[in-house]
Amino acid sequence: MDSFKMELSRSVRRYDFHPIQRMLYSQDFIEISPFLKRFIKYPVCIVQPENDEEVLAVLEVSRRFKIPVVPRGAATSAYGGATTLKKCIVIDFSRMNSFEIKNGCVVAESGVVWLDLEKELKKAGYALRVYPTSAPASTVGGWIAQGGYGVGSLKYGDIGKNVEWIEVADFDGVKRVKGDELKYYVGLFGTTGLILRVCLRVREGGEPSNYGVKCSFKDSLDLIEGAYHASYVNRNLGKMLGCGDSDSLLLSFEDQKSELDFDVELGNILWSRRFYLLKAAKDTNIVFTEAVLPYETAPEFYQKVDKLAVEAIFAQDCVVMLGILPERGYYSTALKAVKFIKMAEKYGGRTYATGMLFPHKKILDKDAADYKKAVDPENLLNPGKAIQGNAISKLVRLAEMVP
Ligand SMILES: Cc1cc2nc3c(=O)[nH]c(=O)nc-3n(C[C@H](O)[C@H](O)[C@H](O)COP(=O)(O)OP(=O)(O)OC[C@H]3O[C@@H](n4cnc5c(N)ncnc54)[C@H](O)[C@@H]3O)c2cc1C
Repeated sequence: MDSFKMELSRSVRRYDFHPIQRMLYSQDFIEISPFLKRFIKYPVCIVQPENDEEVLAVLEVSRRFKIPVVPRGAATSAYGGATTLKKCIVIDFSRMNSFEIKNGCVVAESGVVWLDLEKELKKAGYALRVYPTSAPASTVGGWIAQGGYGVGSLKYGDIGKNVEWIEVADFDGVKRVKGDELKYYVGLFGTTGLILRVCLRVREGGEPSNYGVKCSFKDSLDLIEGAYHASYVNRNLGKMLGCGDSDSLLLSFEDQKSELDFDVELGNILWSRRFYLLKAAKDTNIVFTEAVLPYETAPEFYQKVDKLAVEAIFAQDCVVMLGILPERGYYSTALKAVKFIKMAEKYGGRTYATGMLFPHKKILDKDAADYKKAVDPENLLNPGKAIQGNAISKLVRLAEMVP
């Protein structure tokens, strides 16, 4: 065994150098064509730390041997953030998965799965304020590292707004980050530090009361005020998810709204289908594309994309539009996905996240690059993502030029 392998195997109890594991851990949810696979490098090893000491020991090996690390949750992000672009060590956080509920908050380790957390909180009379619709699989650390909106974002905003503090590991050790500094970690795809645990604000109460309304997208904007969560599923997506063939709005409230004359049965069906896209993504050949729109222009944009299967998630200050494309040829589908975002930009919208695909969109805080240089001078934390370009993002830029 060479010295790198020897050091790594001393630093952490669970490690794997097997070629099949290295291949499996080289990609996340994003589909990569055989041509683009040439830009992906298999990791040299996968580690599954069980505590902070092991994470720090792996970082020390990374620093000594100048081999980057790529953190990984459940790999459900479609932005390629956990894809390995360099010879690296993949740090799979799935074994750091304990949590504790205290003082109206929950402190959860990075590898906790969102839905597991929600179930345990419910037993204690609490609930998550926000969670992604990939909650049955995705992890606390993975979603915070990607950033974004989900169930509950109408009332509580994006995930970053619901974080009290996070503890991160970098080459200087472990630090607790809160307040304004969270912007250097939420949405940075693990390029500035490894999230170990997080303190989340939770809400009191259980299942929301749900109502369905068959209405146009434009009309739905007049109905969502006061809801905890609202999402719009158009007829094409409704058929796919088995919730009817009408354009429908789901309105969820934290308390009963007996005065509302809306369809409770439809509401409960729509609520119960909120995780179905995860299953559909596994079972059918579909590709997601998404963009964030201001409320003012969302109806006009929606008109342009209504022929697709579309879901809109309403957040405090924006609408997240998700287009679901049937996969008909890798490159033509990828071009359609890019066109969806370009169209959104025409209406004052933006790409949802950066990851491996869109670092050039510059949606992150301007001084994030300086912060990265300060905490990771040797560029070993998930290089080529979020704020740094890579070969694949250069091709995405070319695709954006196609009229
Ligand atoms: C069907 C479906 C529905 C989805 N719904 C939503 C939604 O409602 N809202 C939304 O925003 N997204 C959604 N997503 C995208 C994705 O599921 C979320 O971003 C998700 O929470 C990512 O979690 P993960 O554990 O899979 O992270 P991964 O995909 O494993 O990682 C995401 C990024 O975080 C980094 N990372 C992982 N763990 C750590 C850590 N401990 N420290 C630092 N960096 C880390 C990775 O390197 C990568 O860059 C959806 C995806 C699918 C397939």
